[in-house]
Amino acid sequence: MNINEAAKAYFEREDVRQSAINDLAEIIAIPSVAGERDGIYPYGRVCAQALDKAAELATKYGFTVENHDYHCMSVLYGDSETEIGMVCHLDVVPAGDDWSVEPYALTVNENLLMGRGTHDDKGPFIQSLYTMRFFKESGIKLPYTIRLILGSDEEVGSSDLEYFVTVRKPPMFSFTPDSEFPVCIGEKGILTVEVEFPSLPEGVDALRGGTVSNAVPGKAFAIVKADKELENTESITVHKVEAGYRIEATGKAAHAAMPESGVNAINLLCEYLVGNGIVENSGIVPIISASTGEYLGKTLGINAENDDFGYLTCVGSVIKGDPGKTVQCYNIRYLPETPYQEIVSAIERAVAPCGGKVTVTSQSDGYFVSADDDKIKALTEACESVLGIECKPYTMGGGTYARWLPNTVAFGSAIESERHYLGDERGGPHQRDEYISEKEFFGGMEIYSRALSNLAGIL
Ligand SMILES: [Zn+2]
Repeated sequence: MNINEAAKAYFEREDVRQSAINDLAEIIAIPSVAGERDGIYPYGRVCAQALDKAAELATKYGFTVENHDYHCMSVLYGDSETEIGMVCHLDVVPAGDDWSVEPYALTVNENLLMGRGTHDDKGPFIQSLYTMRFFKESGIKLPYTIRLILGSDEEVGSSDLEYFVTVRKPPMFSFTPDSEFPVCIGEKGILTVEVEFPSLPEGVDALRGGTVSNAVPGKAFAIVKADKELENTESITVHKVEAGYRIEATGKAAHAAMPESGVNAINLLCEYLVGNGIVENSGIVPIISASTGEYLGKTLGINAENDDFGYLTCVGSVIKGDPGKTVQCYNIRYLPETPYQEIVSAIERAVAPCGGKVTVTSQSDGYFVSADDDKIKALTEACESVLGIECKPYTMGGGTYARWLPNTVAFGSAIESERHYLGDERGGPHQRDEYISEKEFFGGMEIYSRALSNLAGIL
């Protein structure tokens, strides 16, 4: 029996499958949302508990564990100096309301394993651990050490990996199971800026929109004075208030990495205010209205595209306007070939005529690897042979650990055809009723085993 057949047989064993589900249940039960430092725990006690639980499982299966001061942890198999990394995170985003099952308890619902973190990214931790178990229990020696790195701060800032590279040398190559199959060979750079304008449109007393910097705002409102009756429209609701009117716009929220499906409420609001003669289309209104009415960055003079990534995206997200000052935030996903300073300069030129000042609030570089790289081919082959479909490497606007650790790509463990059993609003990472399907869970283990065995062949 070759390694691939052995992996397939191992992950079909009922005892192995049940044990993996039990282990997933144990780690899901810990509500490890990253928080403030608490004594020796950099992201709070509950994140440390998740690392301790992972260490307990890894030790039980005979692996060596290194705790990097509760920033992150390594689980090791092998004793070669050369290392291949698998990088997962055990922190989760808050569950939020309106789940149909208990978020912090594993529910097995036919072929779906449900609970916060099943997909992002505790399920992939179990997949990685079981991939290591397969090699160890089958007595297969690899020409490298597998280093499974488990972080605790992926959802907030990835400072866990910044710490890791100060205490350990990064593996010669790593993949992070925190996205979709097949291989993600590139992520756009991410830049968040705030533009402060020295005014609020005349006639407006307050202007607000959006809640987070990395999403197309689904809601926005303005408090205005108006001397005529104002009508509701499909997307606008008008309320009479003491100061005049409160005008609320409802668009459609969307992640800033995929703004195509969103409708920006700030733009709807601006158009209504201008269309009803409440504000003049002058001063800062045209630039705010236009820059939130598109997502290609044309208004700010930063639009760009190439064959590998498609186009740059620019989302006008949170806006906060009070008398004498309006601050508009932009979340920009840019092509890694462009230095971000060039983008900042272009925005400065575009907003200067309105007195706008630009502040960079966060920035991280993207990455790009050629699809012809041997290691990428090794991962792609694993995916194609297990899934039985063509698996062309892709690029994306989303960000993973891959941008924080050298020589790392995102790889799995979502399978597109398994992603929509609960519709578009439920079941995904960060959504209610988050799940990983059994096909994704066990199929992913087989893909990772095969990928690591392919890598052994080319090192
Ligand atoms: Zn994640």
